[in-house]
Formats: sequence, C-alpha cells, structure tokens
Amino acid sequence: MATGTEKVSAAGSARAQRREPEAHDLSTAHLKLIPPAKELRLKIRLEAVRVAANLDRSRPLTKEVLRGRAEQLMQTVGLPPGYLGFTMVAISNEFWREQFMAVDFKRRLLLLPHCLKHTETCPADYDAAGLNCTGCGGCVIADFKLTADELGYKVLVAEGTPAMLKVLTSGEVDAVLGIACLNALERAFDKVLKVGVPSLAVPLLSNDCAATTVDVDWVSEAVKLRAIATPKRTRTYLPLLRAANDMFAESQLHALAPRSRVTPPGDADPIGATESLGYEWLASGGKRFRPFITLAAYDAMNGGKNVRPADMSVPVELPAAVRRVAMAMEVFHKASLLHDDIEDDDTYRYGRETLHRRHGVPTAINIGDYLIGLGYRLVSREAKTLGAEAVNDILERLSQAHEKLAEGQGAELFWRNGGNMEIKPLDALKIYALKTAPAFEAALYAGMRLAGPLDAREPLVAEFSRNLGVAYQIINDLEDWDGDDNNKLVRGQDVLSARPTLLLALAMEKATAAQKHEMREILGDAEKCECAIHRVRQIYAAHHVFEQAETMVRKYRERCEAVAESATPDALRELLSFFVNTLLERDLPPLPPGQ
Ligand code: SF4
Repeated sequence: MATGTEKVSAAGSARAQRREPEAHDLSTAHLKLIPPAKELRLKIRLEAVRVAANLDRSRPLTKEVLRGRAEQLMQTVGLPPGYLGFTMVAISNEFWREQFMAVDFKRRLLLLPHCLKHTETCPADYDAAGLNCTGCGGCVIADFKLTADELGYKVLVAEGTPAMLKVLTSGEVDAVLGIACLNALERAFDKVLKVGVPSLAVPLLSNDCAATTVDVDWVSEAVKLRAIATPKRTRTYLPLLRAANDMFAESQLHALAPRSRVTPPGDADPIGATESLGYEWLASGGKRFRPFITLAAYDAMNGGKNVRPADMSVPVELPAAVRRVAMAMEVFHKASLLHDDIEDDDTYRYGRETLHRRHGVPTAINIGDYLIGLGYRLVSREAKTLGAEAVNDILERLSQAHEKLAEGQGAELFWRNGGNMEIKPLDALKIYALKTAPAFEAALYAGMRLAGPLDAREPLVAEFSRNLGVAYQIINDLEDWDGDDNNKLVRGQDVLSARPTLLLALAMEKATAAQKHEMREILGDAEKCECAIHRVRQIYAAHHVFEQAETMVRKYRERCEAVAESATPDALRELLSFFVNTLLERDLPPLPPGQ
C-alpha cells in the first residue's frame, strides 16, 4: 500500500515555513475563533473542568463525544458557535489533565510552533527536527524552552503530526504538551488523542501562521504541572505502536532478522552490498503501521492485554515468531515503496533522496527484489514454531496481496500510458481496491491467523479491508487538494503526476466536451503550471466532485463500522473501530463550488 503520504515533496520544508491556508482550514475557520477576552477564556476552561468530571476515562475520547460535550457547554454558557474548537480543546485538556500530570517531566514532550518566533530577527536555523532556537530572547520560545529544559522535558519547535508521532512511537515520551493554532491542533492532536496519549494543548491566540501570540501564563502553568499519584488510566495502543517501531531499531532488527553476511563498515564488498543497502533502507523511516496492524490483531485475538497505558517498564508480551511475521509486512511495504518511487520517479522519501536517485534504478529494483525474498523468508522460517498450516495460510494471503497490488499498479500504469485519459469511477474504485486494500488485509489476516484459524471470520477480514482501503484512498485523493502536513504538501499532486483518481473519473463523467478536452490537455502536458492545477480544481468544484467523493467516503466508512460492530471478540471489535477512527477521519465539509 504505497501511498503518497510518506513521500516528501521538494517544496515541503519551504511550504511548512510559509504555511498557506488549507482548504479545510477555510471551511471550518468560522468554528475556530479564539475568545478575545482572557476572562472568557478562563470561564470556558473552568466550565470544562465540570464537564470533563463525568467523562468515561477508560477509553480515549472520541471527536463525536468531545464535540457533543462542547456544544452542551457552549449552550449553557451562551457562547457563539465560533468558539467550538476552543471549547473542545478546553474539555480535552481536562479529560487528560490528571493523566498528563502522572507522567514524569522527563517523559513529557513540549511541542512549540515556530510561528511564535520573531520573524524578522530570529537567527535560528531549521533542521530535520525543527527550529533550533538559539535562546536569543527575541520571543517567548526561549522562555518556554528554558523552563521546560530545566524540568527535563524533551522540547521540539516543530509543527505537525509526523514530528510528534515519531517521538511518541520511539518511546522517548509518554505525554505531550502542544502549543499550536486551532488548525494545527485539529490535525495533529486529533491523532494523538485517538491513540490515547495524555495530551494538553494551549491554542495560539490567532491562526495567522506568523508572529503569533499565546496566553503565556497558561503555557507556564501547564509546563509546570507537577506529577501526581497514578489516576485512572485510559487504554491505549501506544505500547503496540512502539513495539512495531522498536522492531526496526538496530538491536531488534538484527535479532529478529539476522543478517547472512558480515560486511565490515567501509568495506566495498559487492556480495554484501545488497544486504547492507536493504537493511539500511528497512531501518530508514516510516510509520510502521503495517506491522502494528499485525501485532495488534494478534493481541486482540488473545484478549487485547497489551492495549493499556504506555508504561514502558512493563514489556509488551509478543512471541518472536509473531514479531517476525509482523516485520515481514513492513519489509514487503518497503519493497513496494522502492518500486513505486522508481515508477513515479519520486525525488524524496523520508526526508532523503529516494534510493533510486542515490544508487540508480537497477540497484533500487534489485534491493526491492531482495526485500521481497527477505519478507517471505521471515514468514516461512517460522513453520516449525507456528505450524506449517498457519504459515501456509499467511504465505498464501501475502502472495495474493502481491498479485493484486501489481495488478492495481499495472492498471494505473496502463491507463497513464494509454493516452486517452478517460477513466470511469468504477474502474478507479477497482484500482483502489487492488492497490490499497490487499496490504491491509494481509497484515490484519496474518495477525489474526497467528492466534488461530479464522474460520467464520474470514469474510469479515476481506470485507472490512476492502471498504477501509477504498475509503482510505479516496481520503488520500481529497487531501491531495487540501495540502496537508504529512509530507505531501503540494496541492494537486495527483494531477501533476497524472494519476487516474476517483475525482478525475467523477469529473470526466460530468464534464462538458470542452472541459474533457481541457483536462486531457492538462494531464498530458509534462510541464503543468500552477494555473492548470487551479483550472482542474475549478472543474472538479463546478461538478461537485469533492462533495460526491465525501459522500462515498461516508458510505465506505459506514460499511466498515458495520463490519467492525459485528466482530468478535470485543478486543477485535475495538481494534477495527480504532482503524476506522484513525484512518478514515474526515468529517469536514468539502470545498464550496468555485474555490
Ligand atoms: S528566542 Fe529562539 S525562536 Fe525566538 S527569536 Fe530568538 S532564536 Fe528565534
């Protein structure tokens, strides 16, 4: 499931620094106003304490519940709808406050936005981790950082989900205090909250993206919140997410998948070169979501005992054989990314030049082939531990996934090379089902099969994965027009690379002959300009393509929810719901026509 979300656009870092308003920012801006009077902000925060007192803390707060409680609070106090975002943050903070306080200072992350800096005079540089504040004293960042550093916090001056999730899944911190505008909080904290990480947030006083301000005393108070005795803890998948991530740290990677060849550092050994590059690529980055799916599915079928607060002193209990099979999911994914990057001639991946740009296409193809072999070996070698039947079932599912992925990718390439640029919505959906669903299905199936035969649950896995994969891909297409902070930052990238998306298919179905001709010309032009992208967007908007796609996401999401609801045992039902809530989150209205 090689999606564009892990690709890094060349324009990425530049755009991150001059954040443009995004489509969904515009559509919900009216709900993200900050009460101008400090007294009113305090009043809302106090009311939030009362509201949060009655919330069930055994499970992460869902956005629906949070929104419902915020609307009730706003009605009670008589607040205008514009303060919805602020009120949701206030309630969420009170939901998590005690659990945040239970985390030692040294295990907390303070995430500061670079837009607080003094734009004209700030001497700090950026690197991969964010802004390196020199402490010149030109803005409040230095003060916050100093206080937090002294207490033992890990401090990042960076924006966006990837930076935060990377620190969380690496196991460095167990709680987050984030300062950000309401737009960024919606994007980043939403995911953290769903995973179940204790998080507090202080909204910036504007969404302006430059020279912003914040309630300094609110931040200071939050930073200094002292540790308290353990309160009731919310269940979280974080330990399993970390377990998936840790498998690719050097020690575990080599313990689980020992290298066959020993290549001394600096030695130009041609025989060992493929293995060395393959392992380097494997350790190089990514969200590790596929191995997480397998680990979590196995855990769910065994009662979900590793879904618990992130206490790293209690190790996650998972057999090595299960970890190896989960590792194979990532190995296959990494192989598909290599081939995908070559086919699309992508420039960057995980913040570096793509492997084929660094080492040449033939070498990159070969590393991908090597990883496919490694992935199959990681599973097949467990025949004695897991039983030949279980291993055979998993291998069968993996090989099916490989075939389907290649067919889906092949269909896309065939379409691109075909030249007439016509595609029907049904064909686009078929391609999505082939390209996106099988990898998810294989990871989910493998995890469940590791716990025992699936029997009557087999159809459930296929149906859930198909609907989830298609919905996920449509969301990906829609986000391509939002711009997003998940690395893929150039709007209309799918048009730039002439992909056969559902949006294009829906537009082609309704467009006039002249518009069809225009779109074909634009897609076929190798040097597409910004105005051409804008024109395609206008045509999409004129035919309500975005709204149609949103409706389809809702339909597929409802199907996923229905399947999840029917799943047993409870731990599996909860896991499937978690996938729906984390992967299919898109509850914002589409672009109004003409924008
Ligand atoms: S305090 Fe840090 S972030 Fe603020 S202006 Fe100085 S160097 Fe830049």
